[in-house]
Amino acid sequence: MNKLLDGDIATVNQLIDAEDPFPYLLWKKGKNNNWDPTNINMEQDIKQWKSDQILSDDERLLIQRLLGFFSAGESLVNNNLMIAIPLYITDGGCRQYIARQIFEESLHNGTMAVCCAAYGLKVKEVSNAYKNIPTIKAKVEYMTSVTSNLMRKDFDITTIEGKQEFIRNLFTFYIICEGMYFYSGFAMAMALGRQNKMTGLCDQVRYTLRDESIHIEFGTYVLNRLQREYPEVWTPDFYRELFGILSQAKDLEIAYAKDALPNGILGLNAGMFIDYMGFIGNRRVSDLQFPSELRFPNVKNPFPWLSETMDMQAMGAFFERHERSYQQAGALEDDL
Ligand code: MN
Ligand code: FE
Repeated sequence: MNKLLDGDIATVNQLIDAEDPFPYLLWKKGKNNNWDPTNINMEQDIKQWKSDQILSDDERLLIQRLLGFFSAGESLVNNNLMIAIPLYITDGGCRQYIARQIFEESLHNGTMAVCCAAYGLKVKEVSNAYKNIPTIKAKVEYMTSVTSNLMRKDFDITTIEGKQEFIRNLFTFYIICEGMYFYSGFAMAMALGRQNKMTGLCDQVRYTLRDESIHIEFGTYVLNRLQREYPEVWTPDFYRELFGILSQAKDLEIAYAKDALPNGILGLNAGMFIDYMGFIGNRRVSDLQFPSELRFPNVKNPFPWLSETMDMQAMGAFFERHERSYQQAGALEDDL
């Protein structure tokens, strides 16, 4: 099989040429979750947002912080997919999956537009949160720098340092942004929904979450494949460095949670996000088969109720699923 990064991007590299069926399987999974943010009923949200009886000031603040971070995060994820990652991933199947993901990220951007219209907020003001809210700014600045690192003229993917920089990028976007930051936001939104508040927003989040689960599955697959194909890049120091980045991201998210939930509402408080980021972070790095000493100690899931909504089980046991996926993909060859 061709390696992930060693082909030519400017040639015929269609999905059907892919030697590994897994990206195509994810492409089909994404297609099975086809949805449209403009079709989700926002009427109850509109009534609740307008009424002064339903939402507290703290809940309004939370919703604005959520929209503020998601509008920046979804935009940065998509930008990175459009301008950085496809410069270096040459595998045809992966490139086609990325095209699907770019479409889905654009839907998630659409969710922000739909919500702003429903709540009578100005998109520009909401999306400026990345400039005006320090805890959002901190997360965004780091991600922006990771994208621009790949755009430098002297960037060279053929070197070990270049591959490590590329892996830092994938890890930051797939594991940290989509795999940690977004999940923390999903938990906050779902906590509103549990109290029958902003159910339109929650439905948007539910569909988004299903897309994001597949994106993380893809990112995990790519990172695992890079470990197999380029083992020389993955030194013990490099694993430690990546885990360090994850720890810093965890701290940034906890600061953001304190900011979004200053008084503790909806059965949530910022302290729970210390546990949640540790819990979900451990899950991510164990799916990536990081050395077992690189784990957050003593973590538990503070939101057991989320697993029903979020299908956390499906995110575990990556390799078990991976093998099953191969079998399914084998069976699907008949359809072609
Ligand atoms: Mn997204
Ligand atoms: Fe995504």
